[in-house]
Amino acid sequence: MAVPLMQAVRVGSYVVKKHLAGVKRYPLVLMLEPLFRCNLACAGCGKIDYPAPILNQRLSVQECLDAADECGAPIVAVAGGEPLLHKEMPEIIRGLLAKKKYVYLCTNALLLEKKMEDYAPSPYFSWDVHLDGDAQMHDASVCQDGVYDRAVAAIKKAKERGFRVSINCTVFDGADPKRLADFFDRVMAMGVDGIMTAPGYAYERAPDQEHFLNRQKTKQLFRDVFRYGKGKKWKFTQSPLFLNFLAGNENYHCTPWGKPLRNVFGWQKPCYLLGEGYAKTFRELMDDTAWEQYGTGNYEKCADCMVHSGYESTAVADAMKRPLHLIKVALTGPQTEGPMAPEISLANQRPAEYNYSKHVDSRMQELAVKKAATRKPANSPAAADAAD
Ligand code: SF4
Repeated sequence: MAVPLMQAVRVGSYVVKKHLAGVKRYPLVLMLEPLFRCNLACAGCGKIDYPAPILNQRLSVQECLDAADECGAPIVAVAGGEPLLHKEMPEIIRGLLAKKKYVYLCTNALLLEKKMEDYAPSPYFSWDVHLDGDAQMHDASVCQDGVYDRAVAAIKKAKERGFRVSINCTVFDGADPKRLADFFDRVMAMGVDGIMTAPGYAYERAPDQEHFLNRQKTKQLFRDVFRYGKGKKWKFTQSPLFLNFLAGNENYHCTPWGKPLRNVFGWQKPCYLLGEGYAKTFRELMDDTAWEQYGTGNYEKCADCMVHSGYESTAVADAMKRPLHLIKVALTGPQTEGPMAPEISLANQRPAEYNYSKHVDSRMQELAVKKAATRKPANSPAAADAAD
């Protein structure tokens, strides 16, 4: 199994309890971004585009643990930026594990060998290493030669030390299905515990805007990849129904509250991928977000999205409603032949809004006010002492 049995049971019982209690919206995975700073500048990501004072911001250990308590999701995915650049990351992870959260620490692995000693293997903890394909594909994706080899060396070392390791593979337009399938074979041969895969979301700040997949291409690409995988024992950390959705066989609508994001701005509205606004608390995020304004068919920026942030939770909820369908897909794998499920109409979607500068300007002003408030007045006794 790509996830430990205990994790599957605990997450399953959490979902069942929410359904029985009639809770309409609940989180499945807390996405935690304690910093935006990264040691890579990938073509498909716009995070390091923030001004330096924002890149220098960190969520504290307490803020991270409070976010886990507020949200209550059984799984926490720690992402960024590069989380291993955060000096207090070992303490954050220990705190989350003490709360019995299942933690995925997402990393590009450049610092993994150096920092591995600060962490201990646990059934609750998994490294989630970013690998977008074989050496040539991945190094092109992260815009730096040699990153694949370093990541693979770190994965091998982590497995030798007894850690759970999954890989996180984002797929872009132009990917060769056979090559991707060969990569999945290779990853399984490395002893990796599971693969998480999804099409790249077209971040508006990403330097490369030409290689994001639209939904039709995404579905065809995943069908082609999964066809090569028939009869093989690829292990995915994602629900079988989400994989079936990627292959064009499910007519799912987005449930963005399933994977809420807490970062240095606050709780991001509406999802991990889109920063349209920020709430101060998790409750405010859940209660005050106009959820009906988002998702494919509702909003232009969501038109091509098939990412797990929005659709994995839909697949999990569907599994509750159609358990026999889940069992069938789990046994036979995603369907790779026949007509695809109808696509969501984009006729009534509202146009995109561009809020990036507004949020950045407002945060920069807040930081400037904070800095001025902590600066000592020139003629204060403290300043005079300092001058002595
Ligand atoms: S479809 Fe859902 S997950 Fe995707 S960008 Fe829109 S709100 Fe976010």
